[in-house]
Amino acid sequence: MNVAEDARNLFLPAACASCRSAPAAGTGLCADCAADLLALRPILATPAVRAAPPVVAGGPYAGALAEALNEYKERSRRELAPALGGLLGRALAVVTAEVPNALLVPIPPTRAARRSRGFDHVATACAGLGDLRSCLRARARPDSVGLTPAQRAAAARKSLHAVPRRTAALAATARPVVLVDDIVTTGATFAAAAALLREAGIRVPAAIAVAAA
Ligand SMILES: [Zn+2]
Repeated sequence: MNVAEDARNLFLPAACASCRSAPAAGTGLCADCAADLLALRPILATPAVRAAPPVVAGGPYAGALAEALNEYKERSRRELAPALGGLLGRALAVVTAEVPNALLVPIPPTRAARRSRGFDHVATACAGLGDLRSCLRARARPDSVGLTPAQRAAAARKSLHAVPRRTAALAATARPVVLVDDIVTTGATFAAAAALLREAGIRVPAAIAVAAA
């Protein structure tokens, strides 16, 4: 987000984040693309990394959902947060049917990603869905494109760390944790995050993502 972009958003009606051919309503999407997202049903993703908890995603990373997620992340279109959060909410409903009383732990952005977007995109999307506990931090890591699942798992383990004071407080609640991320691919990030929380004595029976690649 920069001043020029802010100004453009202020004075011109923004295009739909998905099809770009129609003006967006306040949701960042046109009516047709908003309906496409609403028509999605949660899917069970099967992570290639076996140590990952089971993941329920709001839908497949394709079509309107992929477009909207990219615009949200890469162009900081925060107005898409409620639509994407709605998908997380439906995924969460599937999980909480089996895991009641869960706390939500978002996968953190690296400091650089947060700075360039201007906000924490995962935490923002799941605001209002439940009791959010940000107890993980991310260090910079190399782009995971082209890495094997084993290499991704190693990179994810190296990148994430827990804030001990916060994980201790979380463990003291004795409540289970549902991890939250934007996209699940191999499940390496979820596996690494779950391992850190489990080391602190926290149960991590499931994870949710906006989309499954
Ligand atoms: Zn559209």
